[in-house]
Amino acid sequence: MNFLEERIVTDGVVKAGNVLKVDSFLNHKMDIALMERIAKEFKRRFGHKPIDKVLTIEASGIGIAVLVAREFGVDMVFAKKAKSVNLDGDMYVAEVESYTHKKTNRVIVSKKYLSEGDHVLIVDDFLANGCALQGLISIVESADAIVEGCGIVIEKGFQEGGHRIRNLGYHLESLAIIDAMDPETGAITFRQQ
Ligand code: 5GP
Repeated sequence: MNFLEERIVTDGVVKAGNVLKVDSFLNHKMDIALMERIAKEFKRRFGHKPIDKVLTIEASGIGIAVLVAREFGVDMVFAKKAKSVNLDGDMYVAEVESYTHKKTNRVIVSKKYLSEGDHVLIVDDFLANGCALQGLISIVESADAIVEGCGIVIEKGFQEGGHRIRNLGYHLESLAIIDAMDPETGAITFRQQ
């Protein structure tokens, strides 16, 4: 097991509905030393790519994306959940269905902050069905920027997102891939990588 898998086994809580809670180190309280190791691991895996921007989605991706952006020495942009229904033409927009909240959000990135030809690393905390990642990919591509890769902290490999994104040909790296988890016993099975 790698350092992240060990932490998930120790402190992750498997909930009904295929949800893993990692509030004690990633999603509510943040273990910065652990997150720095995660960011360094993304740097190791994507360091050969010409990344000049890191993109994530609010809120839970922001913490990790900040540290990843610092590793690469670049700026980080996060897609915001749009509050207004009237959006002007200054925004890239995508519809993203929230896995944990079961509702659809319209997310936006200002055209000022994503430019044609940017080399973007997309980062998020979880990958489940892939809606968040697909929304972010569509935003990058509508800007005529380049998706250099997608870095995910925890992929739930028994849901379809990972398969879908890899099949589309994107370079997806997940630091822990869960193949099964049992809310009754709390048991978690990781994919050997
Ligand atoms: P997807 O769009 O791939 O279906 O879901 C990914 C998004 O939903 C992530 O941005 C993450 O915030 C949230 N998410 C999905 N599954 C889980 C989970 O098991 N635990 C937590 N904490 N968040 C999840």
